[in-house]
Amino acid sequence: MSDRDLEARFGAGNYAPLPVTIVRGDGVHLWDDQGRRYIDMMGAYSAVSFGHCHPRLIEALAAQARRLDTISRAYFSDRLGPFLARACELTGMDAALPMNSGAEAVETALKAARKWAYKVKGVAADRAEIIACEGNFHGRTITITGFSSVAQYRDGFGPFAPGFRLVPFADTAALEAAITPDTAAFLVEPVQGEAGIIVPPKGYLAEAARICREHNVLLIADEVQSGLGRTGKLLACEHEGVIPDGLTLGKALGGGLLPVSMFLARHEVMDVFKPGDHGSTFGGNPIAAAVGLAALDTLVEERLSERAAQTGTHLLQRLRGINNPLIREVRGIGLFAGVELDPARANAGAVVRRLIDVGVLTKDTHRNTIRFAPPLIISESEVDWAIDRFAEVIDATMSASPEPITESSS
Ligand SMILES: *Cc1c(COP(=O)(O)O)cnc(C)c1O
Repeated sequence: MSDRDLEARFGAGNYAPLPVTIVRGDGVHLWDDQGRRYIDMMGAYSAVSFGHCHPRLIEALAAQARRLDTISRAYFSDRLGPFLARACELTGMDAALPMNSGAEAVETALKAARKWAYKVKGVAADRAEIIACEGNFHGRTITITGFSSVAQYRDGFGPFAPGFRLVPFADTAALEAAITPDTAAFLVEPVQGEAGIIVPPKGYLAEAARICREHNVLLIADEVQSGLGRTGKLLACEHEGVIPDGLTLGKALGGGLLPVSMFLARHEVMDVFKPGDHGSTFGGNPIAAAVGLAALDTLVEERLSERAAQTGTHLLQRLRGINNPLIREVRGIGLFAGVELDPARANAGAVVRRLIDVGVLTKDTHRNTIRFAPPLIISESEVDWAIDRFAEVIDATMSASPEPITESSS
């Protein structure tokens, strides 16, 4: 059987990969099993901000793997402290709790918020509520999908944990109205990624932060995807001058090499955790810490936030410059862009497939949107190459079907 057949035969059917088998990566490029080269405009859902197989990160991984592997948190390691300190220094947070996946970092944030509500705010036992946004994506655990507004993510997985409420994204009046004396936290993505790269209007996060402060509600920013330079600042919160009470990081934090995530917070929040309250066998292991620290150092030394701001402006200009009626909207900030296609005229998934044939890898997401989140090291000329191919594919799609489709189609 081919590699693909083996994956299909022995894997669970929870993914439907695009028809390409990747065997090698270097910087912004990937190669398939036929030796064809692609430009990676998806960046593994923003997890490879540094480019594939960054030499410095590979070296940090290999050197640490030769020296010391996993020891669990039963003992101190010489790697964890420096990693957590650097993360706090860069984000302005007081303390950090390392986990592995983004979903685990969010779960940690939810546990911290609830315990803070009981121990600090004085909410009665088991009454704490957390407000999240419609269209949110915070991961795939049962608790988290329990407050997803995507029907498929919930379907068949109930019953769900109580204590969550949804408000429309970018609606501060709805947020304020949803707050009760039992509200522990407001959990929000500063830019909604999976929902289709939804950038809220200017001022939204700052106003949400003000409302949270006024009502003694924690503002928890999920920056698993928007953080670490993706939007042109180290944290997307910085665009609004907001310092959240809690923060989740993941994806790019592992340099594209390992799952590394963390929850960071002010002392008042993090101090609710006592030994035994929470943990993770692999969270903060020496290899993860070494890679995470190298990733943070690389981000700063290679000025990747600044580069993302500059190259991202170019990317958005190029995308907005494509004049084609199939395109309904171009949204984005930094190197984090979404192109929404008119569903009556084109299917984002079909366009993504055609892009593979011309050497551009990306992926569609909700709202018939094609995402562009390349490694932050991408150059303007590489952006140009990819967007030229995209414009050609969009034009060809338009000529093939110039009239809007009236019947429902997939
Ligand atoms: C991807 C993502 C997560 C979940 O991360 P995993 O590592 O897949 O568990 C959480 N929050 C946001 C905003 C994300 O984009």
